[in-house]
Amino acid sequence: MRRKLVIGNWKMNGSRAGNTALLSGIVAGLAANDAPRAECAVCVPAPYLAQCAAELQGTPVSWGGQDISVYAAGAYTGEVSGSMLADFGSHYVLAGHSERRAYHQESNELVARKAVAALAAGLTPVVCVGETLEQREAGQTVAVVMGQLNAVLSSLSLEDLDKIVLAYEPVWAIGTGKTATPQIAQEVHALLRERVAQKSAAAAAAMPILYGGSMKPDNAKELMAQPDIDGGLIGGAALKAPDFLGIIYAV
Ligand code: PEP
Repeated sequence: MRRKLVIGNWKMNGSRAGNTALLSGIVAGLAANDAPRAECAVCVPAPYLAQCAAELQGTPVSWGGQDISVYAAGAYTGEVSGSMLADFGSHYVLAGHSERRAYHQESNELVARKAVAALAAGLTPVVCVGETLEQREAGQTVAVVMGQLNAVLSSLSLEDLDKIVLAYEPVWAIGTGKTATPQIAQEVHALLRERVAQKSAAAAAAMPILYGGSMKPDNAKELMAQPDIDGGLIGGAALKAPDFLGIIYAV
């Protein structure tokens, strides 16, 4: 069976005091419940990586960044390199979140380079793909997500393909309260897995493909019951310990 994984994306939210309360609530909730659950991680704003390293070390919660530079080091003001993320114990980094694609004009090719940079630093890239409402209504969903996936697939070796996580996040479902139905999500997840299988059946069988877009404790179970949905990438609900825990245990 594939591993189940739930990752919180804090986006540009947090404060040192608020983070301590949130993280201690998550850790305490995990310690108090030994029911089967997903692996879990939080992807936090870069200034809070040191805090996560200090407060999450030795707990079941991993952490990571929300973006990565394609460059290793040098005169790139404002950028954060993979080795810096790794220096603070990061395990994961998001690559190509739709907010980065939309507000920072990140192309499919740039996102693929970010995935490569993450792997070079020993991090697991969580590669995000997804269509806008306009693209879905125009019947372009498959073309859009395949274009996003193909750019990454053509940049990775077969060996590296085993080391990535994919996240399908329909843009129209992110932060809107409109979750994709389990059927809609499953359909795209299955296509993504089939495409990965064309490169490596073994990698496709093992690769966690997360769903993201208004996942909450009350819709997580139904989504995660789909055969190709292996967990969630969670925005809003990751900012409240009981909601995040509810999703982690929804497996
Ligand atoms: C996200 O930002 O990746 C996300 C899925 O957000 P939300 O859960 O708030 O829709």
